[in-house]
Amino acid sequence: MNSSCRTRRGGRAGRRAVGLAALALLVLAGAAPALAQEEIRFNTNFEGGSLGRIERTGENSFRCHVRGQQDQAGRNRQASWYFFRIDGARGRELTLILTDFVGEYNGRLGACPMGPEIRPVISDDGDRWTPIADTHWDDRAKEATLRIRPARDTVWIAHQPPYTPTRLARLLDEVNRYDHARVEVIGKSARGRDLHLVTVTDPALDDRGKAVVWLQARQHAWESGTSFVMEGALRFITSDDPSARALRRRLVFLFTPMVDPDGCASGQVRFNANGYDVNRHWDEVDLTSKAYLAQMPEIWYVKKAIVDRVASGRPIDLLVNLHNTETGEYLSTMAGDAGSRAIVGRLSDRLTHETSFSPSHGPVFAAARDSSANVLHAENGVLVVLMEQRIARDLKTGREPTVEGRLRFGSQLIAIMADAVRP
Ligand SMILES: [Zn+2]
Repeated sequence: MNSSCRTRRGGRAGRRAVGLAALALLVLAGAAPALAQEEIRFNTNFEGGSLGRIERTGENSFRCHVRGQQDQAGRNRQASWYFFRIDGARGRELTLILTDFVGEYNGRLGACPMGPEIRPVISDDGDRWTPIADTHWDDRAKEATLRIRPARDTVWIAHQPPYTPTRLARLLDEVNRYDHARVEVIGKSARGRDLHLVTVTDPALDDRGKAVVWLQARQHAWESGTSFVMEGALRFITSDDPSARALRRRLVFLFTPMVDPDGCASGQVRFNANGYDVNRHWDEVDLTSKAYLAQMPEIWYVKKAIVDRVASGRPIDLLVNLHNTETGEYLSTMAGDAGSRAIVGRLSDRLTHETSFSPSHGPVFAAARDSSANVLHAENGVLVVLMEQRIARDLKTGREPTVEGRLRFGSQLIAIMADAVRP
């Protein structure tokens, strides 16, 4: 989907040809100032890109509608993802008003996934991201005004640092070279993309007797922060670090790193290509039904991998399901038994004391039943823990999460998960 908008810098009619001729001459002469004559172009025609309608409101000002995504019933529009490129930006003072955030969440109208604690991020190489310092949130209009003065001709702007299926594919290629890691395709998404399951353990030792932990990310495409945590976990647990080697002897580590690759590739928000929320419907998806396989293949294949494993006598001691929120950070599980409370209690304590995890409240046990992956506890006895991590700045530190911080947290998380099930 390309919602790009071409607009030429203002100026007297008829000047464009002259400007372009001058540009060509000056580029040959190696002079940069002529680049100021370039058009401003918005572009989303790349992996993960997304933006809705763009209105030009002045020489260097634009009102940018966030595209959002609705579910299969045309409800629950959520607008928490935008990722676009601006070309022709160098030296200009650009004002961008991001609008159209208000939607619906769990059937309740008026939900707004943006606020004063969230600053969009900007990059001039598509790789290193920093929060936009001059971000102003208008809570009445529910609009964010960004003022930027790019030093380079091209800049990228996103809701939080993006993480694409291409980056994951490169990582999985690296991981798959290790003898102690195996990358399998366990199914295909609605649009035919691979759904991966990664297994990491010491192959010289029998799996019987090893504890088993499972880490899952990107059921919701906009939650790119969870992919950096996933990458940090995978890099650490496959590494030569002596503690990683010791953990591989004691445990089997399983990873479903990107459950909605279609949404991640096409810049969507939280529903699969058929409109189904990938962290709902887990109770209704019947593995004997081809209708569910057609509608929600992402849930169907991952649920099947979990259920088949447990049914074959290979239990899963802990499954952490990574998600992002705007400002909340917490753990939540439907389990309430003493054994589950002990594991999640250890997990929560160590994350809180040893990592950047900064929970809004203590872990939730025996959470009210919903249709998320958490239902696997009631159905199959798997201890599933939802982990929400905020994208807003942490009120304690005053800082937003960084890519480096997410990667480091992933390496800590996987080790603490292991210790939580095998203290
Ligand atoms: Zn989520």
